[in-house]
Amino acid sequence: MRGMLPIRTVPDPILRTATAPVTEFSAELAKLAETMRETMHAHRGMGLAAPQVGQSIKLFIIEYAGSDEDEAIPFTVYVNPQITWSSMNTSISNEGCLSIPKMEGNVRRPKRVTLTANDLQGNQIRVKARGLLARIIQHEVDHLNGVLFTDKVEPGTLHQVA
Ligand code: ZN
Repeated sequence: MRGMLPIRTVPDPILRTATAPVTEFSAELAKLAETMRETMHAHRGMGLAAPQVGQSIKLFIIEYAGSDEDEAIPFTVYVNPQITWSSMNTSISNEGCLSIPKMEGNVRRPKRVTLTANDLQGNQIRVKARGLLARIIQHEVDHLNGVLFTDKVEPGTLHQVA
């Protein structure tokens, strides 16, 4: 099923609310993930968390077509994700967010993370991520905890983009 959901933007309080774990791996959950995918494509995003479309649950999606610098990331749904390990090494990179339109800034994050989550069927998955994927995962996990990239932005780097 194709569809679109409106993106919640700041200062919508749902973006600041800690999300609830998913307990039922239903057809509705799969439908939500697919509709989120359509919505993310329409906005040219690389990741989208459920609270950004008004659902305060622990689910996010990631998909990226790839570029010269970064490898493609296949469409993946993460349910009840938990970062179980973060590297001491960090990197700084520019970030934006569909919920904070036209703003970007530099954010320092661990370079590598290990994550456990469920897939849409409730199976346990474990992901070791580095590079762009590690960064997007951390950005989306933050959303599930009511944290936005602007909370972590390096001083003086937040700026408006056309
Ligand atoms: Zn975001």
